[in-house]
Amino acid sequence: MKLTFYGAAEEVTGSCFLLESGSPAKDKILIDCGLFQGGHKFCDDRNREKFPFDPAGIEALFITHAHLDHTGRIPKLVKDGFMGKIYSSLPTKDLGELMLSDSLGVMTKEASREKEEVFYSEEDVSRAIGMWEGKNYMEKIAAGSFTVTLYNAGHILGSSMLLVEEGATKALFTGDLGNPSNPLIEVKETPLGPQFLVAESTYGDTDHEGEAERRLKLERVIEKSVGRGGVLMIPAFSLERTQQLLWEISGMLKEKQIPEIPIFLDSPLAIKATKIYQKYYDTHLKKAFGQTGSFSFFSVPDVKFTLTTEESKEINNVSAPKIIIAGSGMSTGGRILHHERRYLKDSRNTILFVGYQAPGTLGRRIRDGAKTVTLFGDEVPVNCHIEEINGYSAHPDKEDLFNFVQGKADTLKKVFLVHGEPRSSFNLVQTIRDYMGIEAYAPKYGESVEL
Ligand SMILES: [Zn+2]
Repeated sequence: MKLTFYGAAEEVTGSCFLLESGSPAKDKILIDCGLFQGGHKFCDDRNREKFPFDPAGIEALFITHAHLDHTGRIPKLVKDGFMGKIYSSLPTKDLGELMLSDSLGVMTKEASREKEEVFYSEEDVSRAIGMWEGKNYMEKIAAGSFTVTLYNAGHILGSSMLLVEEGATKALFTGDLGNPSNPLIEVKETPLGPQFLVAESTYGDTDHEGEAERRLKLERVIEKSVGRGGVLMIPAFSLERTQQLLWEISGMLKEKQIPEIPIFLDSPLAIKATKIYQKYYDTHLKKAFGQTGSFSFFSVPDVKFTLTTEESKEINNVSAPKIIIAGSGMSTGGRILHHERRYLKDSRNTILFVGYQAPGTLGRRIRDGAKTVTLFGDEVPVNCHIEEINGYSAHPDKEDLFNFVQGKADTLKKVFLVHGEPRSSFNLVQTIRDYMGIEAYAPKYGESVEL
C-alpha cells in the first residue's frame, strides 16, 4: 500500500493520511480529515485550499477521534464530492457531530469578521453525519482491499488507534494516544504485529507530572487562589480535560482537600460534551466506573453549569474566591476571553493552563509571559499569577511514547512521527533510532512512501 501524508506532518494539526492499494491505485481510503489550527485565526487559510486528491475517488474515511484537528474538514470533503462511508467508534460519532456543528458557528463568526467565505454549510455537516457509522472497538471493517480495526487509544472518550491491513502488510495509525494516568479511560489491548507505525509525537520532548504530583499541584493552586481571595481561571478543552477536572475536583471535595467555593463550568460546548461523556460512562469510561461505580458529572457539589449567556454573565456577580472553567483551551475563542479581559489584570487572580498551547495562540502568549494582551480591542495587562500543570494532558509524554513504540519494536520496520512540532518529533526520532535501532523519521507534507 502507498501512504501519503497530507496533514499533521512536521506540525500538530490537520491530520489527514491517504492510503492507496495496487498499481495503478484502485482502492483509496483516508484516515482523518482534520482542520489546520493554530496561529491567530480559528480557521487557518490552508483549510480553504482544494484537497490534493479527488474526494470522489475515496472509498471510505476512518476517523481516529473527535478533536477538530482530526475531523474539522470532513464537511468540506463531503461538499467536494466524497460519497463513501465514514467510520469511527460510537462516541466519536456523537462527539464528532457536536464538534462539527460547534465549529461551524465559530467559523461563521470569524468569517463575517474577516470578510471571508465559510467553506462548508450546515447541510454539509448533516450529510456527513448521514454517511457516518459508529463501530465497536475490535470490530473488523472492510473497505476495498483494506481491513481496518479500531482499538481504544485512551486519549479522549471514543478515541481509536487504527490497524490497517492489506494482505500481509500491517500499519498502525495511533491518532492521538492517551496519557496512561488518565483517570477515566484505560487501554487494555493494543494491536499486535504492525510492521509500520504512524505515531503522534505531540510531547516527544516533554515529561509530564505523575498522577499524585499533578493532583497535589492542582490542590495547591486552588488553595493559594482561595487564600488570595482571587479568581482562578482554567481554560480547558471541552473534551476530556473538562471531564477530568470535574472528576478530580469531585474527589478533592469529597476528601475535603479543597475548600468549598463556587465553581463554574462556563462553556456550552463542554456542557454538551459532558452529556455525551455521561451517556458512555458505564461502557467506555471503565477505569472511572470500576473505581466508583455510577457517577454523575452533573452532580459534583459546588459546580454550576452555565449554559446560557445570561447565566454566564451572572458569574461576574459572584464574589471571589471562585473557579471558572471555560473554553477554548488555547484561548482562541469562547467565553474564557471575557473572563480573561476582566480578570487577567488583578494580581490576586490566577490563570492555570492544563493543556497544550499552540504557537501563535493567545494562551501560548500568556503562558510565555506576555506583559499585555489585546482582548476585544482592549489592551489588558497580565498581572495575575500564571500556573501550568501538564500532567492533565490527554497525550502521553516522551517516556510513555517511547514505551509505546518499544512495545511494538519486535515487528516494526519503520516508524513515522507525525502530530508534533518539529523539535518534539525529531527528539523522538533520535531516541527511537538510538535505543531501538529502528528506522524512524518525521515525514514532510505531501510525501509518499510505499509500505
Ligand atoms: Zn486529539
